[in-house]
Amino acid sequence: MRYLSTRGDAPVLGFEEVLLAGLASDGGLYLPETWPRLDADALRAMRGLSYAGIAARVVHPFVEDWMEPDELLAMTADAYAAFDHPAVTPMIQTGDDDWLLELFHGPTLAFKDIALQLLGRLFDRALARRGERVTIVGATSGDTGSAAIAGCAGRANMEVYILFPEGRVSEVQRRQMTTSGAANVHCLSIEGAFDDCQALVKAMFADRAFRERVNMAAVNSINWARVMAQTVYYVASAIRLGAPDREVAFSVPSANFGAAFAGYVAHRMGLPVARLVVATNANDILHRFLATGSYRPGAATPTLAPSMDIQVSSNFERLLFEIHGRDGAATAGLMARLGQSGGFEAEPEARRRAAALMASHRLDDDGIRAEIRRMYETRGVAVDPHTACGAAAARSVGIDGGVPVITHAQAHPAKFPEAIASSIGREPDMPASLAAVMTRPERFAALPNDLAAVQAFILGEST
Ligand SMILES: *Cc1c(COP(=O)(O)O)cnc(C)c1O
Repeated sequence: MRYLSTRGDAPVLGFEEVLLAGLASDGGLYLPETWPRLDADALRAMRGLSYAGIAARVVHPFVEDWMEPDELLAMTADAYAAFDHPAVTPMIQTGDDDWLLELFHGPTLAFKDIALQLLGRLFDRALARRGERVTIVGATSGDTGSAAIAGCAGRANMEVYILFPEGRVSEVQRRQMTTSGAANVHCLSIEGAFDDCQALVKAMFADRAFRERVNMAAVNSINWARVMAQTVYYVASAIRLGAPDREVAFSVPSANFGAAFAGYVAHRMGLPVARLVVATNANDILHRFLATGSYRPGAATPTLAPSMDIQVSSNFERLLFEIHGRDGAATAGLMARLGQSGGFEAEPEARRRAAALMASHRLDDDGIRAEIRRMYETRGVAVDPHTACGAAAARSVGIDGGVPVITHAQAHPAKFPEAIASSIGREPDMPASLAAVMTRPERFAALPNDLAAVQAFILGEST
């Protein structure tokens, strides 16, 4: 498989280059040149396979000239062996047509483990082949940092630097990052906000001399391999409910649009997706776009679902490219308009193409609390505040009766104890793995919001 940029002006690359590059040289994001097909027979043949077995079959067309099926299967089996449930992504039924897909059984208890456990191993393979080392630098508002650390800790060819905003991640989230004990993991507590951390990372990528000296790489959700890995759980869950002989719908709490875009990919590959519901919190830029065609990000407001508190949705560019007939110049034009005038209106036909598959919904904090309470009182399950956005959306957008709706449970409720307590009056039970993190020794460096200081730190520790 070869990959092209959404802005149409970067070299077409193979999987290994795309994995290590992250962003394309024209500023675009990589997508496969063509969508591989999983026809009905191929989907039926996956019934009864393990999650790792399904993962190997779904991922293979994307890496086929790089990795043999047997080696890929060994890798997916290894990536998902440490999940604390044998089904990896188990489902529970919460109504006649309502299902919760639990994506939080990995080491850091949020869905980002599913992609990052595989990504760490893919990086390892690429770097060993090339005899290279990379320095992974990322900013996090909480869940991505710990999942990236869990995916890369102890790997020989990578140094990992994660910047987080001092005092603005929860104690659970900070400890999940700072207690890894791995020598190749470095946590930097930055005196500033998440946007400052993100700006520091962008500045380091823009500093060519620095970037080349440390061989910088990215693991944020613009990396194609993350979307690819997330496509698997759409296929695996739909097959359990009867696909390809039955249509299913999905409701996906969304922010950077990586998870939801993976649902689009599954649909393009041939999975019978009746509806893809994009659920947002009060930061409703994606909902507004799907409803009106206008894309105009404002300032992000803090909500009970902090991992969705973003306005500029990095994977959205991939959808724009798709709904504009894969026209790179048109996509580049829209992104330029976004940069120059803060927004754009899509062609009505492009918005209609998106809305043919996707519905959307917005839930504010009062709605989140009410939904957590409703799920607890009527179904006996405590859902995290992000999942609450998805569950409410699944009910509200009007999906045809008889079509099962799979709501993605994105994080374990114990990661957000205050939001649960303020909704149902008690905190969720803490899993043993999280309890252990609360007592292990922490290691991190506190640094000012200063590019030179962060670069000096990285150069000192990575040489
Ligand atoms: C990252 C995250 C999201 C948003 O996912 P995107 O792929 O960025 O749309 C939602 N919920 C939780 C719990 C997350 O960690």
